Amino acid sequence: MAQLVIRGGTVVDGTGRPPRQADVAVDDGRIVEVGEVTGTGHREIDAEGLLVTPGFVDLHTHFDGQATWDPLLAPSSVHGVTTVAMGNCGVGFAPARPDRHDWLIGLLEGVEDIPGTALAEGLTWGWESFPEYLDQLAAMRRAVDVAAHVPHAALRTFVMGERGADHTEAPTEGELAGMARLTREALEAGAIGFATSRTEVHRTKDGANIGTLTATEAELLTLAQALREHGSGVIQLISDCYQSTDTEYVAAELDLIEALARTAGRPVSFTVQQAVTAPDRWRLLLDRAASLTAAGHDVKGQVAPRPIGVLLGLEATANPFLLCGGYGEVGGLPAAERAAALADPDRRARILAEHADLEANLPPGLLRQIVCGFDVMFEMADPVDYDLDASASFAAEASRTGVRPAELVYDALLRRDGAQLLYLALFNFVHGDLDDVHEMVTSPHSLFGLSDAGAHCGAICDASSTTSFLTVWGRDRTAEQRLPIEAVVHELTQRTAAHVGWFDRGVVAPGLLADLNVIDLDALGCAPPRIAHDLPAGGRRLVQDSSGYRWTIKAGVPTFADGEHTGELPGRLIRGSTGTPV
Ligand SMILES: [Zn+2]
Repeated sequence: MAQLVIRGGTVVDGTGRPPRQADVAVDDGRIVEVGEVTGTGHREIDAEGLLVTPGFVDLHTHFDGQATWDPLLAPSSVHGVTTVAMGNCGVGFAPARPDRHDWLIGLLEGVEDIPGTALAEGLTWGWESFPEYLDQLAAMRRAVDVAAHVPHAALRTFVMGERGADHTEAPTEGELAGMARLTREALEAGAIGFATSRTEVHRTKDGANIGTLTATEAELLTLAQALREHGSGVIQLISDCYQSTDTEYVAAELDLIEALARTAGRPVSFTVQQAVTAPDRWRLLLDRAASLTAAGHDVKGQVAPRPIGVLLGLEATANPFLLCGGYGEVGGLPAAERAAALADPDRRARILAEHADLEANLPPGLLRQIVCGFDVMFEMADPVDYDLDASASFAAEASRTGVRPAELVYDALLRRDGAQLLYLALFNFVHGDLDDVHEMVTSPHSLFGLSDAGAHCGAICDASSTTSFLTVWGRDRTAEQRLPIEAVVHELTQRTAAHVGWFDRGVVAPGLLADLNVIDLDALGCAPPRIAHDLPAGGRRLVQDSSGYRWTIKAGVPTFADGEHTGELPGRLIRGSTGTPV
């Protein structure tokens, strides 16, 4: 008798094939039968009217610290994800010498906005080498499977000490050989690849550039060669090529990506998002990925299926009035008290006057966007509609009502006792709609990614982009732009899994891992993100609930039922690639 039978569902099997009615039988953690299952299971799930999909695979998370203390890894796990990869963008906590712990915490605090106090309290540092870190991860049970890239920034300072944190310093020949040896050792132990950052955006807590920013081609190709020699692993990187206005720089970065793919002979993915500074660049980047693919390399642009936005609010890291003196006077109060103080009409008038000054004087850039980017600023509804349109922005509402946008925003922030969050669509929204995102997600040269789950704890909450990929593109779009549900599920499952060589998951087929979602597509949605203080030491983070995931099943064991954890922790560490291609 099968351990579990999911009966009568619409199976969207992950391969991109059209949905079909079928039962799914599971035994011993694996799928044993897909079709008409005649015998009854020890346990039966009625999936009539529901979708049955593989569990989702999110390759771009930053749970490196959290995975050592938190078995649930929400919000990813409540958005259908059953496998996550960490160590992205070159940041992580191994290898780590004991005297570099504080520095690594400062790096993650700066680059990924993860509270340093939470990391300091939560991390046990029972490791020094990368293989020891993997052993530590392997010793713990979780709701999802985890895997990790070797993070370049950690590797560099492990070998080069203080100099490794300085991007203008190059490793000596001996140091470079050491980094290559440790990369091979990490791959041998089960690292899924190597990740690095080449963006000015990534800075330590003290504002210093990340040590890997300008790592030379010689350094990177030596590490790529380690992947070739080991014959495994992927390369993941972020560079400023998606946003820089310096065309020579962009060309050089793309040449470097090509050299990495050639040297490693392994899959490469890099960040592709639409920036205001270079609205059409993403096309150039995906075109380059296309020509490299045509030349026999595996290079893909990691894209997000929705705008990438920063959340603004009284409890979030940023809000539009942060720089106003009148705000600063009450900025230290708890949110509800602060909201009450801000409701005082005199204070409101003063802050709005100070804000008008800022609006007149702030130069273009991120800060100006946060303070007065009203044309891309939205109030978050419940459930959140990520299919944004400029007509719903504060700027549009202001021109309809004749009220200053700053006033509308001010009053919105005070709602729900100061808990209301606003969404600032910084990327993928240059033309005020999602037409360009449609092109990105349907490109054969893109790869679902960029959720950054586990990071940007006070500003970004894109772990839920699995859910909005399904709702926006598989359900809610007009017929012209709606994607077949099987195409969306394929992007979230087999396609991402295959990129890193996981062939034991991502498809509903006999013999594969029983990582499954049972989904009520009509009810699927994202609640608004909310601030929780549940990291170690009371650290703050954004969390986000979902609706419509009736069951999430990991290795045959139900882990979440209607968004609630069942108490089961069947998740493991994944070492390297798994299974064999079908
Ligand atoms: Zn990242």
